[in-house]
Parts: sequence; structure tokens; C-alpha cells
Amino acid sequence: MIPVSFDYAAPKTLREALGLMAAGAKPLAGGMSLIPMMKLRLAAPESLVDIGRLEELSYVREQGGAIHVGASTTHYDVQSSPLLLGKCPLLSETAGHIGDIQVRNMGTIGGSVAHADPAADYPAALQALEASIVLKSSSSERTVSAADFFVDAFTTALEPGEIVSEIIVPVDGESIGTSYRKCVHPASGFAVVGIAARLRRVGGKIDFARIGVTGFAGHSYRALKAEQALVGKAGADADVRAAAALLADGVEANSDLFASPAYRAQLLAAYAARAFAAAIKRSA
Ligand code: FAD
Repeated sequence: MIPVSFDYAAPKTLREALGLMAAGAKPLAGGMSLIPMMKLRLAAPESLVDIGRLEELSYVREQGGAIHVGASTTHYDVQSSPLLLGKCPLLSETAGHIGDIQVRNMGTIGGSVAHADPAADYPAALQALEASIVLKSSSSERTVSAADFFVDAFTTALEPGEIVSEIIVPVDGESIGTSYRKCVHPASGFAVVGIAARLRRVGGKIDFARIGVTGFAGHSYRALKAEQALVGKAGADADVRAAAALLADGVEANSDLFASPAYRAQLLAAYAARAFAAAIKRSA
């Protein structure tokens, strides 16, 4: 189908882009989600402002003890960034699970985060990394935690006129082991369930655990009970299985043609056990 007609602007600066958004324009980044929605006429914006070409939003840099990733950084650049591979490998690993190489070359981290598909991959990693998301408008700037940003399916803390300008993730020391595991939907490639694990072991015992889940519920979340269950344990198979069984506790599972809530819960426990085992191995 052909989208309804719309105005298109490709400003040279973020300031100009934010000005156009203040006047009602909708941001276009990689177009990997927005353009199909416009073609299906699920979205019909009157004017688009192209922020995917803004070089000032495309970067990965270390600053103040953390790593800042500009919103227009493509999934491929997140996947292959030497800085992230060395100091925050969970984000790179997760980016490598997104779609195919064409999608990773065009799609952006800011676009994915703002779109907030409940089956998207990044949100699990951003929950486990306790990432911060910087939101800017023509007149304001604020920082929101990943836990507060993802509100519901396709719903975030973004206010009209705001864009995601950057994502801030921590520098993970060598003692922290991380892993992302995903049950890939055979048709779409999205996560039926996805688990990001981030663990540290000291003296043979886990003393720090952060777990992010995507695909299972209406929005991504941190699995706090499973985190608590891992702390103080050696990370033996029984510890891993016991923690994995707590991931769905108190959470209403998605249900669709591919996976019932019960089947999704089984998938979640199985993929979590793999993610925990890999993270524990890497933390050694
Ligand atoms: P766009 O499509 O340009 O925009 C998406 C939405 O976000 C629009 O509403 C837009 O207005 C808004 N927006 C864009 N940038 C910003 C910003 N900086 N601030 C505020 N709002 C903004 N994703 C996965 O996670 N896992 C997968 O396995 C996966 N597989 C895919 C397979 C295919 C074939 C396709 C087409 C997509 C797939 N995706 C997958 C989605 C992909 O990751 C998209 O790149 C992402 O959802 C949207 O990013 P984008 O840069 O293309 O944003």
C-alpha cells in the first residue's frame, strides 16, 4: 500500500529538528518500523523530520565513567563498536540479535527504544544495564531510567515534542559476566522471549545480579525476585533453574498464536537458564 502524502524535512542540526518537532513533525530515524506502519496506514503523520541522518546523534563515546550512545547510532554500529564490545558487551551482543543485516544497517537504537515494541531486543539489555535514557525537546532535557521509560506496549515516557537523544550504559568491569538469549519468532525474527543477564561473582558466589526480560509481557521489566534468588549462590545448575523459575512470578504473560502464556513461561525459564549459565561462565 502507498502511504498518505506527507511533508519531509532533513535538517542539518538537532536544534532545527527539535524546532520542527515543536511544530508537530514526527521523527523518522531508520524507518524500519515507521515506514511499514505508514504503508499499512497504521500511522499517517502529516510531516516527518529525518533525524536518522543527523551526525550529532550518531556516536558511541566514553564520558564520565559511562558509555553514551547517540540515538541515531545504527544497530550495526552498536553491534560492532570496539568501545561497547570491550566495556559493555551486553549491548553489542543484543544488537547482533536484531533482525538481519539490512535491518541492522538502517535501524537505530533511538528508534527501537522510542518505538517500544514489546518483543524488541534492546529493552531487556537496557533493563539489565540499568540504562538511562536522555530525552530532549526544543525547550527541555531530562533523563529517565529504563525502568521508568518503558510504560506499556508501544508506550513510553516520551512527551510530545521530545526525542530520545542518547542512551547511557555503564562500563562493566571484567568481573561482570553478561549474556543475551532469545527465542526467535520464526516469521518475524522478534523475541518470543528474550533475557539479558548481568552477573558478578566474588569468592565463588554471585554478589550482583541484574536481569532484564522482553517479549514475555506488555513491556520489558527487571526480574527482581530472580535477581534476589541468585545473590549469595554459587551459580550451580540447581541455583540457575530455581532463579529461572521466578522470572514470570506476578507478571501477566502475552498470549498470541505462536505462544500461550504457559508455553511462554516455559520458554522464558529455558532461555533464562541458558543466559544465566553463559553469564556465570563469562564472570569467572
Ligand atoms: P523508525 O522506524 O524510523 O521509527 C520508529 C518510531 O520511533 C516512530 O514512531 C518514530 O517517530 C520514533 N522515533 C524514531 N527515532 C526516535 C527518537 N530518537 N526519539 C523519539 N522517537 C523516535 N527489532 C528488534 O528489536 N528485534 C528484531 O529481531 C527485529 N527484527 C526486525 C525485522 C524486520 C524485517 C524489520 C523491518 C524490523 C525489525 N526490528 C526488530 C525493528 C528494528 O529494530 C527497527 O529498527 C526499530 O524498531 C525502529 O528503529 P528505526 O530507527 O528504524 O525507527
